[in-house]
Amino acid sequence: MNKFFAQLSLKKFILTTALFLIVSSSLSQETKNNQKVFLITLDGLRWQELFTGADSLLIKNKTYVKQPRQLNNEFWRDNHKKRREALMPFIWTEAILKGQIFGNRKLGSNVNITNRRRFSYPGYNEILTGSKDDERITSNAKKNNLNKTILEEFKEKNNNKKVAAFSSWDVFDYIINEERSGVYTNSGFEPSTDFPLTQEEELLNQMQQQIPSPWGSVRFDSFTHNYALTYIKKHEPDFIYIAYGETDDFAHNGEYDSYLRSAKNTDQLIAELWNYTQNSQYYKDNTTFYITTDHGRGTIPIDTWRSHGANIEGSDETWFIVFGKGIKTKGEINEKSQIFTNQIASNIRKALGLKQKEGNQVIPIDLN
Ligand SMILES: [Zn+2]
Repeated sequence: MNKFFAQLSLKKFILTTALFLIVSSSLSQETKNNQKVFLITLDGLRWQELFTGADSLLIKNKTYVKQPRQLNNEFWRDNHKKRREALMPFIWTEAILKGQIFGNRKLGSNVNITNRRRFSYPGYNEILTGSKDDERITSNAKKNNLNKTILEEFKEKNNNKKVAAFSSWDVFDYIINEERSGVYTNSGFEPSTDFPLTQEEELLNQMQQQIPSPWGSVRFDSFTHNYALTYIKKHEPDFIYIAYGETDDFAHNGEYDSYLRSAKNTDQLIAELWNYTQNSQYYKDNTTFYITTDHGRGTIPIDTWRSHGANIEGSDETWFIVFGKGIKTKGEINEKSQIFTNQIASNIRKALGLKQKEGNQVIPIDLN
């Protein structure tokens, strides 16, 4: 071999090796980030019930409770720890052992929304984008969101991975901007169109038509949950958002009994999701749950528990639960601290390897 060819093949060798190293390192980065995220919201569930269980002023109040004695048996206990365990057993006996629960204002742990509107569209926009948008989002109207959600960011970055959203409220198609983002979204009374349908999906589609909802724009959470669970089994999304809605609507109706029972039911639905992930090879030990709410509700005068909004004191007070992969067990946060709902998106971006937004801050969650 003459010198010229020897040099050429050396160059070729170096080039090929470099290329191989680049490709294999990006591949290993890809496989290294096997993080899965479940983001879950419970519409308008107060921190007061989450941390202290049933409210003594409401549970016996005949204005809001049809059968006070029965409700009392179900949810009243002598101390707040037992009461909250009766209300949300999965959160307070299992999730608490796997992560961190922010927002017990009685212990100095504050969580607040930053938008000044204090109703749902602005709240979900804040959770899903990491920023409030008080100028452009002024109502719950079905207008496509001009802001990009983390679901859309995830989809843009990961063509090969699944991301989806399931919600009880029909405005989510617009909050997520399904049209622009292309994120698979099933919300409101939408039947599953994820063809070919499974038997479960066919049955859900049929039952959703046959069981009337008390509300015009919100379906029962059982439908949302089971559509989501079927999708999870079918497609194994790496990032899924599930937005339960009943708690807010029962509260607006002034039905404290249904509000509490719905909170407990949602706790059990979350348990089912978690247990599914822990029995799945795909999700086990790779999955983190982020759970929060879009706004708080009032307490004084008592009837304001039904409402929220700019003029209802307490509507900006929320809570945040995180557990699963990578999260250090700290349980209920009992140190003086202030975090904001608009930070949650930054933590999820960090977990999923998405680019951070300038000026956004992550919640200081202790990691393993
Ligand atoms: Zn509401």
